[in-house]
Amino acid sequence: MTTLSFEFFPTKTDAGTQKLLRVRDQLANANPEFFSVTYGAGGSTRDRTLAIVEGIQQQGMAAAPHLSCVGDSISELRDLLHIYKGIGIRRLVALRGDLPSGAGLASSELRYANELVEFIRKETGDWFTLEVAAYPEKHPQASSFEDDLKHFVRKVEAGADSAITQYFYNADSYFWFVDRVRAMGITIPIVPGIMPITNYTKLARFSDSCGAELPRWIRKQLEAYGDDTDSIQQFGTDVVTTMCERLLAGGAPGLHFYTLNQAEPSLKVWDNLL
Ligand code: FAD
Repeated sequence: MTTLSFEFFPTKTDAGTQKLLRVRDQLANANPEFFSVTYGAGGSTRDRTLAIVEGIQQQGMAAAPHLSCVGDSISELRDLLHIYKGIGIRRLVALRGDLPSGAGLASSELRYANELVEFIRKETGDWFTLEVAAYPEKHPQASSFEDDLKHFVRKVEAGADSAITQYFYNADSYFWFVDRVRAMGITIPIVPGIMPITNYTKLARFSDSCGAELPRWIRKQLEAYGDDTDSIQQFGTDVVTTMCERLLAGGAPGLHFYTLNQAEPSLKVWDNLL
């Protein structure tokens, strides 16, 4: 069975939250396994992430808050874990997080995601299903692909149940990553993270910063469309649908959509796959 999940980021205003709840209702029709909600490293969205997670749970849907360890103290992380447990959350996405540039890791009590996974297991046993991040095109700060793969294995050995990948537009990078970690003895599901294409400039900027490659042929085609948003979105839907078909046919266990708090782009791809 193909699993489906959707990711939101916490909105800044009440109006934004109301809009997000409407988007959630639209996406709920696709019957996702869970909605995840990102967390600003250092706790910058602590209350807003919690409020949105509660809103999702109250509608009887499963919510998975992201939790990052850099910039948060152990006691802050412990408090949050117990709040989440108290409101019935059963799944978390455990991450290192990225602090604003200039802020180092040195001051953090937990510095890498494997340490956070270990800490969550120590604090709460098997209460939470734990998701971790995976990077088919290598994490941008990793010294080498080999090191990055080893660090991924450490997160799994610390107790992760499943992984969600950084987005990519090259299905081969996903298959290569999965083959490599399977050869290292890793058996957990590795779910591709899917970023719908809706806006060229923002996507290009974001891809550069997070180390996700926007292949030349996609870049050139998007550039050629200029301000023609309809064509960008039509092309984006076609490209992403074709990639998802390949991923699922090649054994991907499901799809996790980075919705950017919009329903339509993810649903168009998902509907094409049904
Ligand atoms: P880690 O697994 O700790 O890896 C970080 C880097 O350190 C890698 O280069 C790795 O090779 C290296 N490394 C890992 N362990 C060790 C070790 N023990 N010793 C030395 N080096 C090590 N960011 C947010 O701030 N909030 C979010 O909500 C959020 N959600 C995300 C969801 C997904 C699905 C993904 C893919 C990313 C998300 N991010 C989020 C971004 C993420 O926090 C960054 O990519 C961050 O730089 C790395 O996080 P990680 O959990 O992968 O870190």
